[in-house]
Amino acid sequence: MEKLLLLLHTEDDGSLRRQSLEALTSAKETAEKIGADFYLGIVGNGAKKSTELIGNCGAKSFAVLEGNDFSVPRYSTDKSAALALIKHFAATVVIAPNTSRWARALPGATFQAGGRIDTRVTGIATDGGIQIQRWYYRQRMLATLSRTQRPWVILIESGIFKAWEKVSVQVNVEEVSAELKPEMKRTESKGYENASGGEQTIKPDAPILFVAGAGYMKKQSDGKTHVKEAEELIKKFLKLSGASLGSSKSLVEAASEGAEVISIMTHMNQVGQTGSTPRHQKGLSTCCHGEEPHVIGWRFINERRAVNTDPNCGWAQGKTDVLYVADAFEVMTKLNEKWGQKWGQA
Ligand SMILES: Cc1cc2nc3c(=O)[nH]c(=O)nc-3n(C[C@H](O)[C@H](O)[C@H](O)COP(=O)(O)OP(=O)(O)OC[C@H]3O[C@@H](n4cnc5c(N)ncnc54)[C@H](O)[C@@H]3O)c2cc1C
Repeated sequence: MEKLLLLLHTEDDGSLRRQSLEALTSAKETAEKIGADFYLGIVGNGAKKSTELIGNCGAKSFAVLEGNDFSVPRYSTDKSAALALIKHFAATVVIAPNTSRWARALPGATFQAGGRIDTRVTGIATDGGIQIQRWYYRQRMLATLSRTQRPWVILIESGIFKAWEKVSVQVNVEEVSAELKPEMKRTESKGYENASGGEQTIKPDAPILFVAGAGYMKKQSDGKTHVKEAEELIKKFLKLSGASLGSSKSLVEAASEGAEVISIMTHMNQVGQTGSTPRHQKGLSTCCHGEEPHVIGWRFINERRAVNTDPNCGWAQGKTDVLYVADAFEVMTKLNEKWGQKWGQA
């Protein structure tokens, strides 16, 4: 019988992010379907306390590694912590959220445990065993595969499973220790730096993706460009809606051409074939044409809306649920007014 370990880490403040709660749902469902024993291991600041928050998950037993050595992400200590938990439970299958912390540390832990790892997993089936789904070749090919090697570590993407509903229940928690050599603690964490150099605009957990396109930089009906006005509208919308910011390639590349640009935008925001493929419940595209290399990055956006002055733009070719043929400057102004009234910030 498989022994399934759900491996989580806490955030700096001791909380569990939504992606961890989604991984919990996937681990519990998988364990139930294949009749496996289900265990829970948590690493990081406040790990012991966080087990209480999800004490209702039905794990057979709980174990944690916490303390200064594990309070910040660091490859060597995270790898040792994960390895200690895999060994502690003699886990044959490990499910973990595909966070940057685990994506960095778990391949090393898996190697040392003699196992195999699959990252960016987008689905788990249980037809006489475990099969995972994973995209290859920049999201063009979907593969279903299983493995015989154990332990098998599966890093699950966000937005695939429903987040587990937390109910606080006090549980018995074992404290596990990991073998840490002094050189494993040489790397010091000095804090966080946003990729954009300013405010963090990329929010994988946000329900809405807001995409801005190169139309914001073009001459408008009055024959002038309004880039600064566009920047203010976008910033305000992001603040009010909490949306994640995406961009077309043309808009982010304008910066390197020396044009007046929207300052909060970097290549990290680019969505599409040569950009990212984010996962959000809803997406709103503005001033973006909706060409195929861009829209391919919307593969996992469930509800799509676009605003474009051109009724024949790419979005009109069946790529969006609703196309508003309208001026995005006007639409955004109205949207901000409405959101502002709703949240008392008009
Ligand atoms: C190999 C390859 C890979 C690529 N990878 C990517 C990628 O990863 N991501 C990506 O985005 N692109 C990618 N591209 C580029 C892609 O083909 C398009 O060129 C790009 O997406 C166009 O960006 P855009 O729609 O913002 O700009 P434009 O094509 O210039 O469109 C601007 C749009 O804004 C509209 N508009 C202007 N003013 C307003 C207004 N006031 N209100 C409403 N609408 C307005 C216009 O009608 C127009 O439709 C790739 C291309 C190639 C060849």
